[in-house]
Amino acid sequence: MMSRAQKSITTRFLDFAEPAGGTTAVTLTCSRCNKQVTGWTSAEGSAGFYYVNTGYFVKFRRGDEVAICDPCMWADSGYKQEFTPSQHYAQEKN
Ligand SMILES: [Zn+2]
Repeated sequence: MMSRAQKSITTRFLDFAEPAGGTTAVTLTCSRCNKQVTGWTSAEGSAGFYYVNTGYFVKFRRGDEVAICDPCMWADSGYKQEFTPSQHYAQEKN
């Protein structure tokens, strides 16, 4: 499960921009903001959203959420703590 999560992170942008073979387009509703999200799933993981009902990202789940869109996940304080991408985010965190 750990390797699946790591692959999901590293391949997210590549898969989203140019889906490779075996990638499936998915439209779902974000459990947090209720907006429709179009993303991709593949054997490598998901892109454009995060499944939080199974696998690594369960740790960021609130209540009975199933899937979270990128903007919601990036706004999650726990996620930011773990995946701080830049000094800019670190400075915003308080
Ligand atoms: Zn959302």
